[in-house]
Amino acid sequence: MLQRTFSIIKPDAVKNGDAGAILAEIVKAGFKIVSIKRISISRPQAEGFYHVHAARPFFGELCEFMSSGPIFPMVLEKENAIADLRKLMGATDPAAAEKGTIRQRFATSIGENAIHGSDGEETAAFEIGYFFAGVELM
Ligand code: ATP
Ligand code: MG
Repeated sequence: MLQRTFSIIKPDAVKNGDAGAILAEIVKAGFKIVSIKRISISRPQAEGFYHVHAARPFFGELCEFMSSGPIFPMVLEKENAIADLRKLMGATDPAAAEKGTIRQRFATSIGENAIHGSDGEETAAFEIGYFFAGVELM
């Protein structure tokens, strides 16, 4: 069954000029790009997106980072999209990420780790709606 997931190329990767290479990896892995844009978000907008992590010790740092520069939010579609994107991304900490994964190749630290991917169907639905309107998803 075709499934949609939500992803963000994070500020570190955009700043380092890696957005194009990461997108190429995503397309090569069989994902269709349903929608994509380049935007900067405010600190409160980052806090709303990551609200599930509000109690974590790294929440402030995370929201500061995510609002520090342009990002590419996007909606991706393929069979098994949610799990397959997580596999392609690799572990949260690039030092633990499998060889060839996006985070192993492009991330610099556990905080500045190049890419976000939804971790389940419910989060994907919330995250897609947070960044994209219905007319951008046809
Ligand atoms: P994401 O949700 O961005 O796809 P993830 O699901 O692999 O990443 P989460 O546990 O959901 O990891 O953490 C969300 C984000 O918070 C991480 O991607 C990372 O940017 C940041 N983060 C997680 N753990 C730490 C930490 N120990 N120190 C600093 N930042 C962290
Ligand atoms: Mg997560």
